This record gives sequence, structure tokens and C-alpha cells, in this order.
Amino acid sequence: MRNPHAGEPFATPDREIAAALLDVSVPTLLLSCVHMSGDPGIIRGRLRPAGLFLNEVQGYLSEEDKAEARALALEVIRDYRDRGCPEPEPVGPELLHEMMAWLVCEEVPAEYVPLLLEEMELDGRDARRVAPAGTAEQREAVPVVVIGCGESGLLAGIRLREAGIPFTIVEKNAGPGGTWWENTYPGARVDVGNHFYCYSFEPSDHWTEYFARQPELQQYFQSVMDKHGIGPHVRWETEVLGATWDEGGAVWSVRTRAADGTEATLEARAVISAVGQLNRPYVPDLPGAASFAGPLFHSARWDHDVDLAGKRVAMIGAGASGFQIAPTIASEVGSLTIFQRTAQWMFPNPNYHAAVGPGVQWALRHLPFYGRWYRFLLFWPGCDKGLEAARVDPHYPDQQRAVSETNELTRQMFTTWITDQIGDRPDLIDKVVPDYPATGKRTLQDNGAWLSCLTRENVELVRTPIGHIEPGAVVTSDGGRYPADVLVYATGFQASKMLFPMAVVGRDGLDLREMWGERPAAYLGITVPGFPNLFCMYGPGTNLAHGGSLIFHSECQMRYITGCLETLIAGGHRTMEPRRERYDDWHERSQRELRGLVWSQPSIEHSFFKNSMGEIHGLSPWRLVDYWAWTREPDPDDFVFG
Ligand code: NAP
Repeated sequence: MRNPHAGEPFATPDREIAAALLDVSVPTLLLSCVHMSGDPGIIRGRLRPAGLFLNEVQGYLSEEDKAEARALALEVIRDYRDRGCPEPEPVGPELLHEMMAWLVCEEVPAEYVPLLLEEMELDGRDARRVAPAGTAEQREAVPVVVIGCGESGLLAGIRLREAGIPFTIVEKNAGPGGTWWENTYPGARVDVGNHFYCYSFEPSDHWTEYFARQPELQQYFQSVMDKHGIGPHVRWETEVLGATWDEGGAVWSVRTRAADGTEATLEARAVISAVGQLNRPYVPDLPGAASFAGPLFHSARWDHDVDLAGKRVAMIGAGASGFQIAPTIASEVGSLTIFQRTAQWMFPNPNYHAAVGPGVQWALRHLPFYGRWYRFLLFWPGCDKGLEAARVDPHYPDQQRAVSETNELTRQMFTTWITDQIGDRPDLIDKVVPDYPATGKRTLQDNGAWLSCLTRENVELVRTPIGHIEPGAVVTSDGGRYPADVLVYATGFQASKMLFPMAVVGRDGLDLREMWGERPAAYLGITVPGFPNLFCMYGPGTNLAHGGSLIFHSECQMRYITGCLETLIAGGHRTMEPRRERYDDWHERSQRELRGLVWSQPSIEHSFFKNSMGEIHGLSPWRLVDYWAWTREPDPDDFVFG
């Protein structure tokens, strides 16, 4: 069978190929040429990328060099086509390593190579798939309930199906996608490059934009679900109320409630929580809010029946969601008042709203491994460099402004991005340049849409705190009155209440959320002592603020969880749970690391990363390469088996 990443054979005429090459990432193209021609000389000559920066996919090549590279590539592609597009010969590990370093213009340390090869899957082999263990009968005896069918729950279903382990997914929505099902607000789109923000084993060459909008993302998860036959395993529109461990039977009783109110109990030997961290909307308790006369709704519960045309809209909160909503609705509404408590840092990304042109789509579909190398090109800049950049240098003088010299340079770059756009508006600059270190909160992707929205005549950014709400207005603490017909809460989610509002009760009646309080923890973000056979995906300590993508993390977690289940099954064990000392040690080390990272800086007053004590328990302070290595397979010594 042809390697799925070798591209579909084609008979495209020269002229069309030449036109397609005008769109593509030229350095990526040259690597595909190495595969097509088998000639590494292509990357050993003068033509080579000059530098690397996130979302810069042309390696800063000059126009002349790009033209020369395209002409060379056209020759290679024409020859390859005329030979009938044979599947390229595999490339040896040394050359692959050389190709990696060439593309990203720096040495790629050896410890990363296995991770990257796995992520790229150049051999067409899905290495994260875990082979079934035990007999079919043994596997049948270990039914699993997965809570949630978002990105991670769907992945769990796919892996369990491959492993031959029976499972049921319980999903409160009527379809898959989780976040991408619920967040239908105007302008919702992913801010991680889509050719990397997709499962490693189910890449998509069909994305119409580099950062796809919600409907396309939801459709992606739907189509992956259909392809893998997961739909029949899902109970839709059914919410999990709680789960209780039964010691005698060594089973979890999972209580559910369907949309019609019918309650039921599912018995499972293991439970996988895949409920996400940003799922339950947070609405601040603002005085007078109940008196508001017009429609009001949260960004994740957008009311599409409300026609905003010509209306006076007040939007409270402007984090990642508000940042996307405002520029999208500004031209339609009568007026838009944005109440923003904390200014946000933005990462310059001119491609943020760009369409994937037909040339790139052609290359992704036909040029061998083009899509795989493109994935690597997007992945690498976010692979652990952000973590180093987030580290606090305790000797750096002005910690309110920056936590290190690197962080100061980032501040300057981000500030220039702002002042270059609105240099003529010092009043606005004062409002939008954050007063805390760059990257201290989740950094947003920006192509200029935000500031251009703020300079519109019908848009006002208000930084004064809200005092109260009246039937027809939002009133700030200084008495400013802002009339409004519609109120939108873009105020985020209850991020520190992990697994909320489910009641999960483990051994000896231990309630998980009571035990956690505001300090949720799990060993590797996955398992918790006292809660046998319970596994978290996107659990405590696994949110990513320094790079990577949650899909990458989910794939790590699910490989580990499948490995745990295989250990249970093959070993004939009834239960497994992490040793208390491993859990404590993990949490303590994670906390120590987090305290030394920019997100913990006390100068950051408001952040959903922090709990009410200013501590961070949701984020990962670990390098992706370490987390990947630690989760490749479970170490039986970490567990107590029953
Ligand atoms: P968020 O980033 O937490 O932003 C919430 C906003 O509401 C902030 O401006 C916050 O101000 C404000 N707020 C909260 N409580 C308030 C209060 N009591 N009074 C006044 N203002 C208040 O939430 P989000 O925008 O929904 O995004 C949450 C996360 O979802 C993101 O960080 C990201 O992980 C994910 N997300 C991703 C995308 C994407 O990929 N494109 C898009 C949307 C969301 P403070 O900043 O002062 O707290």
C-alpha cells in the first residue's frame, strides 16, 4: 500500500504546476524535492532558508532565491510526474536529521529526533497506536466510559477501538468537537496553525484557511469520527452527573442524564475524563446584571437568533474570544463598547486570516511529504523555545516590565507591532499596551484586525472597571454610562474547577474536587491516587501556554492511557492507581517549576491560569520532549495494582 503521505499521483500540466509553486513554502518544497529525486544535493548548495520565526514559512528567502528554487523544483516535479509518481524511496535517519536542521536553520538536538519523526510519520506508520494486549475475552471484561467527545474524547475512542477495548463515550452536546461544537461565536477560529493542529494520524490537506474557523474545525472532527466509526459508541446529549467507585466490584458507576431528563447508570472498569479545562462558561456576578432588559449571553453560548445589525452592543471581557468577536461584528453593529479589564499581548501574525491558496492545496495533496515537513516547520518554533523564553531571571531588574532580557526583547517586538499600527493614537496606545510582562497571559495571534477594529468610529475600548449594570446600560465605577441593547459576556471559563460540575467519588468516599480544592493535580496530569482506573486527558498541569498544541498533548496522554489499560488487561489486574509519593513529588516539582515561569509573576493580577491564591495548577511547566518521553509508556513502578 502506498504511503499515505507520499501524495496522490498526478498528471498536472507544467503550467499549472508552475502556478501552484508560486503559493507554496519554498523551503518545504525543496525538501519534498529531495524525496522525489532522491538527491540530497538539492539542500547542500547555495539555496537554503536564512532564518526561522513562527508562521514565517519562506525562511526569509529573497525573491530571486525563491524563483531559482521554484525553477529547480519544477524540473524535479516534472520528472517525477513523467516517471508516474512512484512512491519515493525511504530516506535514511541521518539525511532526515540533516533535512530537519536545514529547514529550521539550526541544530535539532538528537533527543528531539524520535519525537519529530513520530509526529511527522514519514514512514506512514502511526507509532502512537498501541497494539492490543491480552485476549479478546480479557479486553471485553474491561469496558471503559469516556466522558466527552471533543478533540481528546474522540481520540480516546479511536485508540480504544484500535486496541479492541469496549467503550462508551458520553457527550453532553449533540455532536463531536467539544470547544469546536460549542463556541460558534462570530469570528471563532483556532490560533494554532491548522496543518499542525490536527491529529498526527489524520492530517488534513483540505483546510481552506491556515487558522480555520469553527465550522471547518467542527466538520474535521465530525469527519474523523465518521471515518473511524466512533459515532455508534457515543451517547449524545447526555451529561455525566458523576462517577462513584465501587470497591467490591472494582467498577465505576457513572451516572448520566439524557436531554429528556432520563437518568441512567453505566458500569465501567475504567473511566477516561476528556472534559477539557475550558468548558464551563464563567459569568462574573456584576451588580444589576439581572436587570438588563435586552438579550445577554456568553460567548460560548452565542445566541444566533439575536440580530446585532444596528444594535448597541456591550461586550464584557476581551481575552481570546472577545479578541476574535469584536473585529468580526464591529462593521455590523450600531456601536460596540468593549470592557476590558486587562490589556492583552498579541503575537504578530499577518497570515492569521489568510486563505490556503489552490497552489498550497495542490502541493499538500500531491507532493510527497510536503504536508509532513510543513507540519514540522510549524511545530518546531513552538517546541520548547517558548518555555525557555518564559523562564524568570530573578536578577532581571524590572520584573513588572519583563522577567528576563529575552522577555524584554519580546515586549519590544510586541510593542512595536502595536505602535506601528496606531502610532498616531497615543490615547489608544495607553489603553492597549499591557503593563505586565509579555507572554504572561495567553498571547493572542493578531494580523492587525484588533487595533483596526478599535480605531473604528463606532467602537470604544473602556478600561475603567464596571460598576454596575442597568436595564439599558453598563455603568463604570467612575459613573460613565454606556447605553447597550445587547450584552455579550466574553468572560472565559471556570478553568480552575477541574472536572466541574461532576461529582467523582473514589476509594473510601473520597470526593475528587473536595480533595483538590483549588489545587488540582494528577500524576503526569493523568492519574490520581485514591481514584483507581480513572484517567484524565487535558487534566491538571497539562494546559499549554508555551507552545505545542493540545492535540499533541492529547496524543501523548492517550498513548499512555492505552498503555495503562493494556497493563491492566494483560496483567489480569483489577485496579491501578499512582503511588502517592509519585503524585506528591510530581505536583511539588511542577509547582516549583511553575513558580519560576512568567505566568506566575505577581504583577499579573488577573489570569485564568491562576487560582485565588495566585498559584497555577492547570498549566504544564514541562518541555514537550520530556512530556512525550514520560508518557510513551507507563512505568509499572509508578503504580499500585490491585
Ligand atoms: P479569557 O481569555 O479568560 O478572557 C476573559 C476575559 O474576560 C478577559 O478579558 C478577562 O479579564 C475578562 N473578565 C473575566 N472576569 C471578569 C470580571 N469579573 N470583570 C471584568 N472582566 C472580566 O477567556 P476567553 O477569551 O473565552 O478565552 C479562554 C481560553 O479559551 C483562551 O485562553 C484559549 O485557551 C481558549 N480560546 C482559544 C481560542 C483560539 O484558539 N482561537 C479562541 C478563544 C478561546 P482579565 O484578563 O482581566 O481576567
